Amino acid sequence: MQYEKSLNKPYLVDGHMHLEHGDLSEEYVMRFVEEAVKKGIDEIDILDHTHRFVEFRCCYDHLRQYKPQEEWLDGQYNLCNSIDEYLELIDRMKQKQLPVKVKFGLEVCYTPDTEDMIRELLSHYHFDFLTGAVHSINHILYDLPFSRELLWNRVSADQIYHDYYEYVMKCVDTGLFNRIAHPDTIKLFNIYPKYDLKPTYEKLAQKIKEKGMLAECNTGCHYRYGHKDIGLSDELLRVFVENDVPIITASDAHEPEYVGNYIREATERIEACRNEYQNI
Ligand SMILES: [Zn+2]
Ligand SMILES: [Zn+2]
Repeated sequence: MQYEKSLNKPYLVDGHMHLEHGDLSEEYVMRFVEEAVKKGIDEIDILDHTHRFVEFRCCYDHLRQYKPQEEWLDGQYNLCNSIDEYLELIDRMKQKQLPVKVKFGLEVCYTPDTEDMIRELLSHYHFDFLTGAVHSINHILYDLPFSRELLWNRVSADQIYHDYYEYVMKCVDTGLFNRIAHPDTIKLFNIYPKYDLKPTYEKLAQKIKEKGMLAECNTGCHYRYGHKDIGLSDELLRVFVENDVPIITASDAHEPEYVGNYIREATERIEACRNEYQNI
């Protein structure tokens, strides 16, 4: 854990939040900054999803074969802004003196089928960081209200977890990303596989470490979906700590008021896990 020398307080980072329910405006970004100040967060990292931007439309065509997904894609702010608007906003924000550190990136929805498109598109832009994320398996989104009907009621949990981690590992292998988003959100509905996930976690940890990436401890599952874990599961957190994987805390805030949500608790959990491991 990083400490600010004078205060001896942990350096708190919220590494994942979205502007996607608001305009790409300076005023809207400032609401996130103000919330970070209020909650004592030292750094915020803003990353809108690629599904906000028209340039990435081709990466979502495969989801349109299912009606609820097509409707979801056509919803508010999805595929409606140009990435240039976002880049211009970033430029304007970087001219300002802000009370907390602010970075700007993208959360890139990864699938093996769209990897080539993603690689080509990303080669045109520069961001402070890029976060790779798996949100769909075999062209079906796993984390939306309609996902139960489309996916969870039709496919076994063993198969879903197997496919999910195959995608997550491929996402890491691409070398395109600095960070891997929420590496166990597949647990969001509290449905678990029958097989032991430990060997998968070990393999994933080694890959993330090899690529020099950060793994998120994302608290979104806790307060957005009511899952008991404040971020990573105890088991995956432990595997990351044992493999010396760098971990970044993240709220996945979709509204300014959720900036910094459970970041202090997640930071303390990670620190406690590291201390426990070192003391064995
Ligand atoms: Zn995500
Ligand atoms: Zn997100």
